Amino acid sequence: MLKVGFVGWRGMVGSVLMERMRAEGDFKGFEPLFFTTSNVGGAAPDVGLSAPPLVDARDLAKLSQMDVVVTCQGGDYTNDVYPALRGQGFKGYWIDAASALRQKDNSVIVLDPVNLKVIKKALKGGVKDYIGGNCTVSLMLMALSGLFQKNLVEWISSMTYQAASGAGAKNMIELVKQMAHLSNAAGPLLGNPAATALEYEALITSELRSGKMPVENFGAPLAASLIPWIDKPMENGQTREEWKGCAETNKILGTKKPIPVDGECVRVSSMRCHSQGLTIKLKKDVPLADIEGLIAGAHEWVKVVPNTKEATLAELTPTAVSGRLAVPIGRMRKMIIGPKYLTAFTVGDQLLWGAAEPIRRILKIVLKFAR
Ligand code: NAP
Repeated sequence: MLKVGFVGWRGMVGSVLMERMRAEGDFKGFEPLFFTTSNVGGAAPDVGLSAPPLVDARDLAKLSQMDVVVTCQGGDYTNDVYPALRGQGFKGYWIDAASALRQKDNSVIVLDPVNLKVIKKALKGGVKDYIGGNCTVSLMLMALSGLFQKNLVEWISSMTYQAASGAGAKNMIELVKQMAHLSNAAGPLLGNPAATALEYEALITSELRSGKMPVENFGAPLAASLIPWIDKPMENGQTREEWKGCAETNKILGTKKPIPVDGECVRVSSMRCHSQGLTIKLKKDVPLADIEGLIAGAHEWVKVVPNTKEATLAELTPTAVSGRLAVPIGRMRKMIIGPKYLTAFTVGDQLLWGAAEPIRRILKIVLKFAR
């Protein structure tokens, strides 16, 4: 029976992966071994079958016994362990949520509803490294797959509204603490029916600027504000998150001539869903109804939301989408700029299709191929 090692299973992405694998009954047909960087000998997670105690995630001998290693531990771990493990002859599959190996020549970025052909070709060609994509890129591609399939996209500008979850568990908790801090500060006004909106605004703004908000992780207040910077600076003025838009889209799609993708990535105070406002230059003027049909028909998870206020409020918000696999896209219309310019808005669960789900599905694909 094939052996699968899980590293980073208790982190945010890892625990959503475990939850999804349990829900889909995936823990069968292979022998799991759970690794840890902090609790060697501890109990393995409850996945409905018995597994040995936790093993040291830096134990190369143990890792090399695996047919597949699945890691959601993070880039530092990958950078330390992957070269050492391959260096000592590990020939198994390496499935990773971190970005460290995404741009390597010998890796494939996985998003099978969009690039199953690329994945199948790679498996046949002996590629062993399968890496989850950037959350915003994966969610945009899930939404727009129908247009890419028909080669209709000349370029895309994506303006993102990214959730706290994309920055990790500590940041999510910090956002809630910031919200609690603001509502505590507003307490006296909330008890005063005569308080005006401007009094509220003055109080909140002075609190945001007071230096008393918890900002250790975000570096600035996010609640009642936003942060138009995600990740490290690049030399060309983009942030690394913005750079990934073009680099990863084209690697996932396996394009010969890169499709330009660029825009501003902004952190907002959503908890777990990333949203994106898209401007798409089409290669030709296609009627809106046809575009909606192509998008809706691409795969079973994308959902076209009618461009009405009722449908938008009910179906196209982080509130509606969190915890769900559907990736809705709406607010779709031709722009006044010209008939080849399409605008749309999409929302997707950053921890599901943006992180854990492509990893869960590539594991199944790899196991089926390797058996
Ligand atoms: P994370 O929550 O920080 O978890 C990573 C590891 O931290 C865990 O596996 C765990 O390792 C350790 N850890 C220490 N204290 C912990 C605690 N109190 N609770 C849980 N784990 C704790 O990282 P992540 O957000 O899942 O991200 C993992 C990788 O996926 C990163 O490379 C990230 O860039 C990538 N990714 C993340 C997202 C996202 O939405 N966050 C999306 C796509 C890709 P031990 O059990 O060994 O101690």
